[in-house]
Amino acid sequence: MSWEDNVRKVVPYVAGEQPKGQVIKLNTNEFPYPPSPMVASRMYDLAEAEIDGATSMLRKYPDMDATNLVNAISKVYDVPFENIFVGVGSDDVLAMSFLTFFNSDKDILFPDITYSFYDVWASLYRFPYKQIPLNENFKINKNDYLDVPNGGIIIPNPNAPTGVYEDPSFFEDIVKNNPDSVVIIDEAYIDFGGTSCLPFIKKYDNVLVVQTLSKSRALAGLRIGVAFGNEKLIKYLKDVKFSFNSYTMNYPSIELATVSILDVDYWKKTVNMLIETREWTKKELKRLGFSFEDSMSNFIFTKHESVSGDDIFKALREKNIFVRHWNKPRIGEYLRISIGTDDEMKKLIEALEEILNA
Ligand code: PMP
Repeated sequence: MSWEDNVRKVVPYVAGEQPKGQVIKLNTNEFPYPPSPMVASRMYDLAEAEIDGATSMLRKYPDMDATNLVNAISKVYDVPFENIFVGVGSDDVLAMSFLTFFNSDKDILFPDITYSFYDVWASLYRFPYKQIPLNENFKINKNDYLDVPNGGIIIPNPNAPTGVYEDPSFFEDIVKNNPDSVVIIDEAYIDFGGTSCLPFIKKYDNVLVVQTLSKSRALAGLRIGVAFGNEKLIKYLKDVKFSFNSYTMNYPSIELATVSILDVDYWKKTVNMLIETREWTKKELKRLGFSFEDSMSNFIFTKHESVSGDDIFKALREKNIFVRHWNKPRIGEYLRISIGTDDEMKKLIEALEEILNA
């Protein structure tokens, strides 16, 4: 007998690299433009406000309900306060949601090719789960989620890393058909052209819609995520969160996230810029012999007709361009390329041309 017998042994999630120095970083789906200028302006305010006691705000515990932030979200999304939960990035929101809603002996269902944190959380909590294969075009077969006993369902829309998007009606059928379990729709990438399932929270008490400020609001470093749901779901989620750690979001991040949410014009403008660049990149990749399912996210999941994914990944890395590649069954030939600025994408296309013509 050793203390190691009592250790909760887990295989952790592997995040994309965060290389240092001058590189083109297209490997973790960060937004390429800065956050709203209101964020910088609020940062200066907070730094200068020593006189009227802003740093004394740091002396106190933060507002555990993040009231300012939740009020801002409530206003912009037209959703009542009671239907909103916030956490330290959507990873935190999702981890809390697994713990709260998937507490069952039955399998949690999610696709085989999806966000690779889901199986990590299920394993961490010792919840059984089943990964349901996508079809050969990386599409979800809706019937796999209908009339199947389960302990909960989680699906990203658009899916990651495939970028494949489904209309809300697709998810409505899954939510309707599973009244005895909670269905989580992970909308980390919904702002890049998709339609949110948010209206379902008024109609169904078993759906949780999760979003993040890390992608379309360019605040991955701030760590703020949001869940929308029926007030009963949100109450249960808060009960679990407050039984774990009440003060997860710190005072500055609550303040900065609030001003970012309220700057709707900047958000829409920069998202549209990204979508334009994505569409240009799709055309260029096709010209170079790449194929992909259409992407509605801020990344493209693609493979080349003749050169292996691993070879391209390594050759790009040599040129200080970082994209994401997984040595996993079914997706080993693919690269996930985040959409950067116009200039970064032009450099990517030039680098790919050199690699393919070498
Ligand atoms: N869901 C999906 C599908 C993601 O790709 C990510 C980003 N890695 C997240 C959730 C978590 O993002 P964050 O914690 O930064 O909100």
